[in-house]
Amino acid sequence: MTTLVLVEHDGQHPEPASQQLLAAALQLGDPVHLLVLGAQGAAVAQAVAGWAGVGQVLLAEHPQWAAPSAETLARQLEALMPGYRTLLASHRALHRGALPRAAARLQAAYLSDVLALPAPDRFVRPLYAGSVLAEVQTHSARRLLTVRPAGFAAASGTQTPCPVVALASVEPDARTQLERRDAASSSRPDLGRARVVVAAGRGVGAREHMGLVEQLADHLGGAVGASRAAVDAGFAPNAIQIGQTGKTVAPDVYLAFGISGAIQHLAGIKDAGVIVAVNKDPDAPIFSVADLGLVGDLFEALPALTAGLPAAPTGAA
Ligand SMILES: Cc1cc2nc3c(=O)[nH]c(=O)nc-3n(C[C@H](O)[C@H](O)[C@H](O)COP(=O)(O)OP(=O)(O)OC[C@H]3O[C@@H](n4cnc5c(N)ncnc54)[C@H](O)[C@@H]3O)c2cc1C
Repeated sequence: MTTLVLVEHDGQHPEPASQQLLAAALQLGDPVHLLVLGAQGAAVAQAVAGWAGVGQVLLAEHPQWAAPSAETLARQLEALMPGYRTLLASHRALHRGALPRAAARLQAAYLSDVLALPAPDRFVRPLYAGSVLAEVQTHSARRLLTVRPAGFAAASGTQTPCPVVALASVEPDARTQLERRDAASSSRPDLGRARVVVAAGRGVGAREHMGLVEQLADHLGGAVGASRAAVDAGFAPNAIQIGQTGKTVAPDVYLAFGISGAIQHLAGIKDAGVIVAVNKDPDAPIFSVADLGLVGDLFEALPALTAGLPAAPTGAA
């Protein structure tokens, strides 16, 4: 009856999402253990051992965890899960590949994109791009969950560090291997964690006009996002698409320029704090979710906001 949480980290520090996952795990009421997988993970394991509510940290260090395949991660989870009732991992691509595999082999329940845990056996999940929320129940003896961390306030508090137990890593699954990783480098904050996101839609009209969006984002110390229509039109790279088939963002402030507000786009900004929309169509659906709306031309609004808003302090994200 113990819960296991897969820790997100960068090799040195745990990601804030891990504390949100811990908060979700603690809601289940069972003892909580944390799992740290990394090429280097000792510093992370020591840090999370001091988080209040954690009973044990499992640490598996192996070069394969620098860029694991879903198949190898599934093997590791399958090996561990007999000792646990519930596994929580963030709802990201690697975990969405690994957890169903492990669940199938364990004959366990897999629940994806969990937003809330109203009871220990009940889970809230979005359907139809978030236009419907389903509360589902499982009686399965084992449950593997991908969770949207932004739905949970980060667990806080410290404790005398709990034990860190070294684990042997499973043999990597050789059937798939990562050959190359092409990651766009950017000096801007990560889209998924940025406190300010400035997003462009098809309304920006051309790739050259993205500069206006980027200038405002840089001025505010924020990240740049885009709608799928803007990505499909070649105005922005796929990596910054927000929405049902893109990234989920949870900034304090989300600014949308020339975005109509299709339901598939709104699915990605459900956890945003203040939503600001600029659109020349007063009937654009984005205004129904916006906290602040301006009916107007983005080509006037973007330079005016960049000139008029105070700049973020250097290093702010
Ligand atoms: C299965 C599926 C998955 C999808 N996944 C996603 C997803 O992940 N993310 C996503 O974004 N979409 C997704 N879509 C597409 C979605 O349905 C919409 O087509 C898309 O979001 C529209 O993008 P847009 O608002 O930029 O473009 P449009 O709908 O074309 O809107 C452009 C807006 O710009 C405004 N505008 C034009 N010129 C100006 C100007 N000068 N100043 C101010 N405003 C201006 C217009 O009034 C209009 O409202 C998905 C669709 C499907 C079917």
